Amino acid sequence: MIDDNFLNEYGDILYQIERPSRYIGDEFGSYDKDFNLAKGKFLFAFPDKYEIGISNFGHKIIYDLINKKENLLCDRIYAPDKDFIELLEKNNKTLYALESKRKPMEFDIIGFALQYEMCYSTVLKMLELSNIPVLSKDRNDAHPIILAGGPCTSNPNPMSKFIDIFIIGDGEDVNIEVLEKYISLKNKLSRKEIIEELAKIEGVYAPLVHKKTKKRIAQLSKENHPINSPIPHFTSVHDRAIVELRRGCGRLCRFCQASHINLPIRERKKEDIVELTKKYVKNTGYDEYSLLSLSSNDHGQIEEILSDLNCYYKGSGINVSLPSQRADRFSLELANLAAGEKKASVTIAPEAGTQRMRDIINKNLSQEQIINATISCIKNGWNKIKYYFVIGLPFEQYSDLDGIVDLIEEVNLACRKNGLKYPQITCSISVFVPKPHTPFQWARQNTIEEINNKINYLRDLKNKLKNVRFNFHNPKMSQLEAFFSRGDEKIADFIYELYKNNAYLESWDENLDFDLYKKIEEKLNISIEDLTSKEFSKDEILPWEIVDYGVDKTWLLGEYKKAQNAISTIPCEVRCNDCGVCKNLKTKKVLAK
Ligand code: SF4
Repeated sequence: MIDDNFLNEYGDILYQIERPSRYIGDEFGSYDKDFNLAKGKFLFAFPDKYEIGISNFGHKIIYDLINKKENLLCDRIYAPDKDFIELLEKNNKTLYALESKRKPMEFDIIGFALQYEMCYSTVLKMLELSNIPVLSKDRNDAHPIILAGGPCTSNPNPMSKFIDIFIIGDGEDVNIEVLEKYISLKNKLSRKEIIEELAKIEGVYAPLVHKKTKKRIAQLSKENHPINSPIPHFTSVHDRAIVELRRGCGRLCRFCQASHINLPIRERKKEDIVELTKKYVKNTGYDEYSLLSLSSNDHGQIEEILSDLNCYYKGSGINVSLPSQRADRFSLELANLAAGEKKASVTIAPEAGTQRMRDIINKNLSQEQIINATISCIKNGWNKIKYYFVIGLPFEQYSDLDGIVDLIEEVNLACRKNGLKYPQITCSISVFVPKPHTPFQWARQNTIEEINNKINYLRDLKNKLKNVRFNFHNPKMSQLEAFFSRGDEKIADFIYELYKNNAYLESWDENLDFDLYKKIEEKLNISIEDLTSKEFSKDEILPWEIVDYGVDKTWLLGEYKKAQNAISTIPCEVRCNDCGVCKNLKTKKVLAK
């Protein structure tokens, strides 16, 4: 709530900064509960700008579920931009929670969402701006518990000196259990004893206790899906209602961490998805909804869902957006439904240019399927095609890079045969990052020199093609991602140095200072490239094995060996591959059909 006290304290600062609406809360759809009545107070902290954080689906789930509990409260805080920080520091003021305007110190738990590794230094700065010691060891009984959830907790080591407890796996149930247990123990036990007790909850890893932790799995229901969320005061990155179709992906692409850490597949029923969408769109007033999933057209009832919703919203101006379609399940009907009248561009993700390489990564996608899907799009009015590729993959040869250009030449040839105009093709090319809990977790990453050579090679090849643009992801950024994601506890010192040297909002290109990384490498005698280009031995205990996502290590290793021989694995949707998840976590896949 914006009251006189708040305006007296922060009003002058807010008048001087860009976009003060990022920092005032009170958005339509926010809860704004009575702070004094809540027994347990959770502050959701997103270590990126407001417009990124407020669009995050995980954030909407946790915010909604905690606030639905009568005795609990969840407020929000996002990373302030530099102009705001400057004035906060100059005026000796701390951050505050958006709705209650209370200081972070007044909360029981502060929960950071670790969505990507480049947010680590921002977490530390947000703690400093909250007047909370950055290092866990320096906190006392008066400080809130600092919690972290999200995909990066799949390797807690790099942040283990700063975070008290990590949530491993789905957060729906466990965040509430942690908060309720905390309230029951507060003022009875010391901080250390409380953390030890919290670490007994399934899915909670505490560095202080250092006990191997199994991931937590939530069963998806209508009740644990939001049907409303705060609508930002200005444009955010995704201004639309988001409805989750399914969690997990049984395709098991060998480089994909999201696929492996979110197993088993859990699909929502068609009736639930349709009902949730209608309610969410009605409550928020958005004119667009997105059906979220790692691969939307793998949902067993996707056609029926889209056709029901399309019929319901016909003529209303409310459209659906779908993430990229898989070319082997490509459906023109679905593409038409998702595109509405726009037909701006369609995205297909071959990931690799040759069949050999697609078998290595287990993409289960043929050249013919990619070309047919592309031609089908062009015939039906799409003239902009976007392809995703990854380079630097394990066992890659230069002939696999030739394959990227060959594939596009084949598309052009098929266009000529069909009397079609060439499409405008944009290839978004990223660099392979070896990620924990995947079959490629042991693999080395290409050095910057190796990747630059490959990029130059591809640029030369591309000159043959007139209708193609290549966009390369910054290889240095991918190297840092690999450095942090596979790091051990020693990486925490590196993150601490980054923070001390004012690194902040590093996922924004303009803030990333590679010279600073060089200086810290020298100071700490660490070589980022030595670590990222290292192949882990198959016998060693990997730093991230402290958390258990249920997939058997022997199965991952078997997949790595199959990759070496370019042998594919059938998707889990079709047949169980005994990856270990269902047995180890006593669960099972849930398919809608
Ligand atoms: S054990 Fe089988 S069904 Fe369960 S996630 Fe693994 S492959 Fe899928």
